[in-house]
Amino acid sequence: MPDRTESESRKLLRRLRDTLAEPGAGQERLDRITHLIADSMRSEVCSIYLFRDDETLELCATEGLKPESVHKTRMRLGEGLVGRVAKSSVPVNTANAPAEKGFRYMPETGEEIYSSFLGVPIQRLGEKLGVLVVQSKQARLFSDDEIYALEVVAMVLAEMTELGAFVGEGEALSALHQQPVLYKGATGQEGAAEGKVWLHEPRVVITNPVGDDPKKERARLKEAVEQLRFSVDAMLTMTDGQDKEQSQVLEAYRMFANSRGWMRRMEEDIARGLSAEAAVEKEQSAARARLESVPDPYLRDRLHDLDDLSNRLLRILTGQGADTGAEMPENPILVARNIGPAELLDYGRKLSGIVLEEGSVGSHAAVVARALAIPLVIHAERITTEALNGDAILVDGDQGVVHLRPEDTVAAAFRDKIAMQAEAQSRYASLRDLPATAKCGTTIALHMNAGLMADLPSLAGSGAEGVGLFRTELQFLIRAHVPKRGELADIYSGVLDAAKGKRVVFRTLDIGSDKVLPYMKRVEEPNPAMGWRAIRVALDKPGVMRMQLQALLRAAKGRPLSVMFPFIAEFDEFRTARQMLLDEVKRERQFGHQLPGALEIGAMLETPSLAFAPKEFFELADFISIGGNDLKQFFFAADRENEQVRRRYDMLNASFLSFIRQIVARCEEARTELSFCGEDAGRPIEALCLAALGLRTLSMRPASIGPVKHLIRRVDLTELREVIDRECASGVTNIRAGVMNWLSTQDI
Ligand code: PEP
Ligand code: MG
Repeated sequence: MPDRTESESRKLLRRLRDTLAEPGAGQERLDRITHLIADSMRSEVCSIYLFRDDETLELCATEGLKPESVHKTRMRLGEGLVGRVAKSSVPVNTANAPAEKGFRYMPETGEEIYSSFLGVPIQRLGEKLGVLVVQSKQARLFSDDEIYALEVVAMVLAEMTELGAFVGEGEALSALHQQPVLYKGATGQEGAAEGKVWLHEPRVVITNPVGDDPKKERARLKEAVEQLRFSVDAMLTMTDGQDKEQSQVLEAYRMFANSRGWMRRMEEDIARGLSAEAAVEKEQSAARARLESVPDPYLRDRLHDLDDLSNRLLRILTGQGADTGAEMPENPILVARNIGPAELLDYGRKLSGIVLEEGSVGSHAAVVARALAIPLVIHAERITTEALNGDAILVDGDQGVVHLRPEDTVAAAFRDKIAMQAEAQSRYASLRDLPATAKCGTTIALHMNAGLMADLPSLAGSGAEGVGLFRTELQFLIRAHVPKRGELADIYSGVLDAAKGKRVVFRTLDIGSDKVLPYMKRVEEPNPAMGWRAIRVALDKPGVMRMQLQALLRAAKGRPLSVMFPFIAEFDEFRTARQMLLDEVKRERQFGHQLPGALEIGAMLETPSLAFAPKEFFELADFISIGGNDLKQFFFAADRENEQVRRRYDMLNASFLSFIRQIVARCEEARTELSFCGEDAGRPIEALCLAALGLRTLSMRPASIGPVKHLIRRVDLTELREVIDRECASGVTNIRAGVMNWLSTQDI
C-alpha cells in the first residue's frame, strides 16, 4: 500500500473526526461530511444514502447532486446501483454507471453527467445503515486504494450513526434503535411476559473510531491479540481434548487468532487511520456480511467463530466486559444470540422471559427455559443488533412473537392478555386442593413434569399429586464432566425430600444425538431423533446408567422409588434395562446398603413399535407412560423440532386417537397403570379427550394443572367418549371441531 495514500486516508479520517467534533445539528454535519469526502477524493459528487425503513433508502446529504433532491430521492433495497450495494453489502465500482445492469436514472438529482460511480455499504456488525457514494464526470474505475479508503470512511460513519451523531430535527435522521420492531420467531416455551431488555452480551461501544497514531494503535492491537491467544490456549488446556466439539471450536479460534490474513487486514485498517477497535469491528462487519450469503454450514460455523473471537478481542481492547456495571432492570428479558444451559441456569428465575436469535425447540436452553417455566421465543432474527439494554419488550411465547419498543396500544393489549391469564390462574388456585373429578364421577390424577430441584416448589403450589416425569438430563447437561454418583444421589434425595412423600417418577437419562453431553464422544448422525439416544446409549455403554441407577437407589434411603426407562422400542430393551436395575439392587443389598421401601419399574411408550410388543411386556412393566411428544413425531413421521411440520398433525387426529385406544386396551388387559406425560397432557381439550379414552393419570407442566382440572370437573367423560366414538365413526380426519361443538353446549 503506497504511503501517500495511507497518509491521505489518515488525513481524511482526522478531518472527518474534527468535523464531527464541531457543534451542529445532524443535517449540518452530514452536509459538511459529503463536502469533505468529495474534496479529499477529488470527485465531484459525494452522497450519503441512509435507510428510512428496512426497505427504503433515502438520499440524506450530497455534494454535487442537486440540493433539492435531498430527502426527496428514495430507492428500494436492491433498486439501482445504490440499492444493489445496500442489498449485497458489496461495493460497486464502475467507469460507466448508466451502462451498468440495474442502473436507475433519477432525473431530479442531475446525476446523468457523472460517469464513474463507487458505492460502499455503511454497516455496523451486520446492521445495514446505508450507502456512501462518490461519482465523477471522468470515466474511470476507482483504484483499490480508493475503494478501501471509502470503506474505512464508511466504517467511521457507521460508528458515528450508532452514536447518534446525525440525529436532528425535521427531515434529518431519526435516532437509531428507537422505533418499534416486531419479530416473528418461533415458540420455545409458552407464556407471556413484559419487561426490559437485558443483553446477555452487551454490545461494545466504540467512541474513538479514528486513531491518531498508527504505531500506538498497532501496538495496542498486537498486545490484545497476544492476550486473546493466551486465553484461547488456556481454554484449550482446560478442556484437555475431552470435549471434542468444544475443542474443535477452540482450535478454530486458535487458527483465527494466529491468522496472518486477519491480522494483516486489521493492520492495514489501522494504517488507513482507524483505531485498533474500529479495525477489529470493520473486519467483523465484513465477516458478518459474508455470513449472510454463505449457505455451507461448516463455513457459517467458522464465520460465527470469527465473530465470537472478534467480540472477545473488542472486549479486551475496550475493557467493556460482559459485566458492564449496568444494573439488571426489573422484569429482565434476556436477549441473546444463543445461550448454554448452565449460563441460563445461572440467571435462574430472575428472568421474566428469553428471546434468542438461534436455538431450537429441543435445544438445551429450551429444556432449561421449560423447566423454569420462562416464556421463550427462538429465531428472533437479528434482535441482538437492534435491542439495547433497558428497551421495553413484550414476549409472546404462545405465538412466538416479540415486540421491541412497542407502541402504547400494542403494550396495552398485551397487558390485558397477561392480566387475563393471571386472573385465570388465581381462579384455578381455588381448585388447588380439589380432585379432578369429572361429572360422571371418574377422577383423573394430575401430576407434574419436572427436571430441576427448582421445580419442586410447584408441587405444592399447583396441587399436583406427584411428579409424573422427572427428566434427569439437566444435571448431566450443565456440567463439563459426568456428575459423580454421590452428587446425583444428593440431588435425587433432595427431590424426594421436597416431594414430601408424593410419588416422583425418575426417568433415566434420555441423552444422545442432539442432546450431546459435553463430555460424550460426538457421533454424527443423519437423523438424530431416530438415532443413538436414550436407552440405546444406556444399553450399549452401560457405565453411566449403572451409576445413575445406583444413585437413585441410594437417594431413596428406604423410601419408595419409581424409575422409568425412556424410548423403549422393543420388549428386550425393557427386560435388559430392568434386569440392570435389579442387578444393582442385588449389589446394594450385598454391600449392606439400605434399599428403597418399594420399587416400581416402568417404561416410556414413545415409539409405535412398543404398542405391539408381546403381552408379557405389558405384564412385566409396573407402569407405562406415553411420551406423547416422541410418539406423535414417530406416528406421523413429523420431526417435533422442525417448524415446517411440527404443528402439522394434531393429537386429535382420529387415527392417532385410535392408536391411543389400542394402548389403553392393552394396558387394561394386563392391568398395568398407564399415564401420559407429553406436552398434549397439559392442553385442556387434549387432556379431556385422553381422560375420556381411559387415561387415568396425566403429567404436565405445573401451570397447566389448573386449566386442565377446571375443565375436567365441568364435563361428563362418558358423554365425551360417546362424542369421540361418534366422530371417529363418521370418518372425519380430526375430531377437534366435533369436540369443540359439544363443549359449546356444556356449562363450562
Ligand atoms: C415425550 O417424548 O413426550 C417426553 C415426555 O419426553 P421428552 O419430551 O423429554 O422427549
Ligand atoms: Mg421423549
